[in-house]
Amino acid sequence: MFQSSDTEELVTLVTSLRRHLQRQQRVGIRFVPKGDFPKETKLVASDTNLLSGSEDDLFSDSSAGYQAKNLEELRAAIGDCHRCKLWPGRTHLVFGVGNPKAKLMFIGEGPGRDEDLQGEPFVGRAGQLLTDIITKGMGLKREDVYIANVIKCRPPENRNPEPDEVASCEPFLKKQIDLVRPEIIVALGKFAVQTLLQSKVPITRIRGNWHSYHGIKLMPTLHPAYLLRNPADKKLVWEDIKKVMKELNGESA
Ligand code: URA
Repeated sequence: MFQSSDTEELVTLVTSLRRHLQRQQRVGIRFVPKGDFPKETKLVASDTNLLSGSEDDLFSDSSAGYQAKNLEELRAAIGDCHRCKLWPGRTHLVFGVGNPKAKLMFIGEGPGRDEDLQGEPFVGRAGQLLTDIITKGMGLKREDVYIANVIKCRPPENRNPEPDEVASCEPFLKKQIDLVRPEIIVALGKFAVQTLLQSKVPITRIRGNWHSYHGIKLMPTLHPAYLLRNPADKKLVWEDIKKVMKELNGESA
């Protein structure tokens, strides 16, 4: 029987293969040789850093996204997106908001109902809690940070995003991170953490410890929507946020 883990694996394999072939194509390899490879295969382009906006990390049909020099150009490149099955149900594509040169970036899962209606991430109840963390907890303004989601369109009934939806949208998040180049990313909740770190480790084990996302410090923490259901765990997020503040203020040594 074909199970959902098989589907996920298949999507991951197809995505990897597509990226590999696009990378090959980018360095001028347009066929896969049969038999022995020549002893010296020189690759001319050597852009292996995913965060520098390499084409293999974006869609072959979106070189405008790959070439975007700023967030406005990236948003324009995404356009009236029909790349996955979420577009018919959306009111707005929720791109991201905040300081395009923010030192701190928050990344959530995907828009809910309020975000879909207003076109801005984290504006509903969970969003109010995130805003309180930023303003009351950290003493910053919402406009000081950058806020985005892994997927840009609301899934029906707020269900979890599916692997093909993430595969379609994640390259744009990577490019967004590349353009903002924050010093620190706070990944909110299991879904953002697992997507960014490509890890299935439960959020309860991984939260509160520093990780690296292509050289950017990443702090996994619990999602504000989870905190609304489990307010007793707010203290755990506060511990994580204090670590982030220390790092931002250069007091972490
Ligand atoms: N939850 C998210 O993950 N993102 C939002 O923008 C709102 C709620």
